[in-house]
Amino acid sequence: MFEPLRKGVIGRALDKGILEFEAHDLRNYGLGRYRQLDDSPYGGGPGMIMRIEPVVNCVRDIQKQHREGRAIILSAAGKPFDQKKAEKLAKLDSIIMICGRYEGIDARVADVLDAEELSIGPYVLSGGELPAMVVIDTVTRLLPGVLGNADSLQDESHMTQLDAAELEYPQYTRPEEFEGHKVPEVLLSGNHGEILKWRKSQRKKKG
Ligand code: SAH
Repeated sequence: MFEPLRKGVIGRALDKGILEFEAHDLRNYGLGRYRQLDDSPYGGGPGMIMRIEPVVNCVRDIQKQHREGRAIILSAAGKPFDQKKAEKLAKLDSIIMICGRYEGIDARVADVLDAEELSIGPYVLSGGELPAMVVIDTVTRLLPGVLGNADSLQDESHMTQLDAAELEYPQYTRPEEFEGHKVPEVLLSGNHGEILKWRKSQRKKKG
């Protein structure tokens, strides 16, 4: 499921050794003859819940190798993941992301592992793998040496050092005109002061 990480900017970060990534199969920590991972919820209700032991045992095994590995649970009910959070995570040595399936994970996992719960948005996916990749991608492009040109980070949407976390201004490239739609005149003027002013005026305020 994590193959998409091998492409593009994140793929190059892997090649350069700036990012290291391991996927661990919880099934290896399943319980009993059938390597069971899930069970029905206490109190009744539909669906299955991921059991605590396989998750905790797996994370603890990983933490033996990565002592500083902070555990994060991907959860639709978690705190919203945003650029500010990404900047904080980018400072950590390693993170362990726990991907749920079924109806989610036994709530005690968060307490036992002192794990933070993060949501990538107000909608429900069928598993935590895509959300984990969203976090990996967002965090990795903040790591030094990942984007070719350091400037390409500076101007971007949501960067928190910008005023009020503004969004990026509209960008254009060739041709100057397509089916009557023209590139704004000011961008062709060569007047850097005016271009800067125009771009500032075009930043959409968030919210
Ligand atoms: N019953 C849960 C949904 C479970 S979806 C609920 O109502 O909240 C199965 C798994 O997908 C979750 O355990 C979580 O790991 C992942 N997931 C789904 N939506 C997500 C989101 N918006 N953000 C992060 N993880 C999500």
